[in-house]
Amino acid sequence: MSITPYIVGNWKMNGTRAMLTEARAIDRAAKRFPGVQVGIAPPFTLIHQLREEVTEIGVGAQDCHVEGSGAFTGDISGPMILDAGADFTIVGHSERRAMHGETDELVRAKAEAAQAAGLGVILCVGETEAERDSGRAEEIVTAQLEGSLPRTERAPYKLSVAYEPVWAIGTGRVPLVSDVGAMHRAIRAKLLEVYGADGAESRILYGGSVNAKNAAELLAADEVGGALVGGASLSAESFAAIMGAAGAGSE
Ligand code: PEP
Repeated sequence: MSITPYIVGNWKMNGTRAMLTEARAIDRAAKRFPGVQVGIAPPFTLIHQLREEVTEIGVGAQDCHVEGSGAFTGDISGPMILDAGADFTIVGHSERRAMHGETDELVRAKAEAAQAAGLGVILCVGETEAERDSGRAEEIVTAQLEGSLPRTERAPYKLSVAYEPVWAIGTGRVPLVSDVGAMHRAIRAKLLEVYGADGAESRILYGGSVNAKNAAELLAADEVGGALVGGASLSAESFAAIMGAAGAGSE
């Protein structure tokens, strides 16, 4: 990888204040890999405290409402996320698309709202197993991307795309490295089509069952600029091993 690799942990709905100990260990580990950009997206409830406890890593949210404030019970806005101390947010994760009915249009609006608030964005896309089996995965993922990408003037600013095949998330299954490379090349082509030359700046992360053992191989695939990591980011030991794989690949 010629660009600074970006390794991000998505803690999902895991973590109480007891997990701050793990966050501190992750922060110490990140210091050993200065050539790697590291972030953690804890649940909203931990953002503020985590930000206070770490110095080496970025802190992010896992979702962001399209409005800045108002009568949206249970939701959290971009300005609130920023105020809590986060620097980025994930949008369009497949769990939100599937369980909260999030459409490409809504994901795009969330990405635009997050950027307007000054947050970096990690925009997730990925195909289901049936879509992969149909042989149309690239067509489906690039269409999802076309519909979800932010289109404001600052759109490519601090934007990363995470390619996360739905069937690989939390299952221990990963695509062939050649399939990851092919999908990432297709995503890069779409970014260049939408943003022109600026589309070369966004990192494209792979996500889905990345662990200490498979990280080096996945991170070496074409156009892979980092990883979005679920389960393996909950322990400093396994997350540090992934940072190490990214650090070695970037030397
Ligand atoms: C995720 O949900 O973003 C993810 C990649 O999860 P896991 O690493 O556990 O498959």
